[in-house]
Amino acid sequence: MTISIPSVDVEGEKNSRMIEHKPDTCPLCNHGIDPVVIYAYDTYYDLQLVCRCTRLKCQKLFIAYYSCLGRTSYIYLNSAPKAYIGTSFSDEINKISPKFQGIYNDAEAAEARGLEQVCGCGYRKALEFLVKDFVIDQVEDEELKEKIARKVPLGKVISDHIEDRRIKALAERATWLGNDETHYTRKWEEMGLDELKDLIGLVVNFIVSIKISDKYIKEMPHPTNNKAQSQTPPQTQ
Ligand SMILES: [Zn+2]
Repeated sequence: MTISIPSVDVEGEKNSRMIEHKPDTCPLCNHGIDPVVIYAYDTYYDLQLVCRCTRLKCQKLFIAYYSCLGRTSYIYLNSAPKAYIGTSFSDEINKISPKFQGIYNDAEAAEARGLEQVCGCGYRKALEFLVKDFVIDQVEDEELKEKIARKVPLGKVISDHIEDRRIKALAERATWLGNDETHYTRKWEEMGLDELKDLIGLVVNFIVSIKISDKYIKEMPHPTNNKAQSQTPPQTQ
C-alpha cells in the first residue's frame, strides 16, 4: 500500500509524492508510532518529512528521509535525530574503572551520530582505561600502580601484567583493532568497529567473571582447608 504525501519543492510548487509507509518508530523515544506529517519537502532526489511523535510523553519533531525510487515514488531511508541511549556496565566494572563507562558512552554517542572516523579512537581510549584500571586493581605495589598508570604502554601492560591466557589474548586483539582506529593505515582490513566492540565486551565479561569469582572464593574458603588449619597443633615455643 502506498501513501500520497502533499509536498513542496524548492520553487514552492505543490506536488504529490508516493511513499510506501511513514516511519513506524520515533527516533527520539524509540516507541512504535504512527507519526503526524507536519511538512514535506521534495527534491528530484529525495523527500524529507517533518514528523511529530504522537506519544503524549514525547511529542517531539523529527525528520524522516526518503530516497527517490521512480519519478514520484520515494523509499524510506531513516529518521533523525536519534536519541542515544548509553550502555550501562556492571558495578564491578564501574568500581574498578570509574571513567570507562563515560568514555565508552561518548564513543557510542559519536557512532550513533555517524562519526565513524573518530568513535574508534574513543573505544580505544575506553579499552586502555579499563585494562589499566583492572591491572592497577590487581597489583598491590603503589609505585608499580603509578608506573602502569603513567608510563607503560597498553600493549606492555597486557603482556607483562595480565596472567589469564584468554583475557590476555582478547585484550591484545582489542588493542590491535583499537590501534587500527587511530593509525594512518589498518593492519586488520577485514575487522572494524563491530569486532572492536565485541572484543571489548568480552574483556568486560572476563573481568566481571574474575572479580565475582574472587569474591566467592574469598568469602567461601574450602572446608578442607579450614579443617586442616583448625587441626594444626599450636606451635610450641
Ligand atoms: Zn517519540
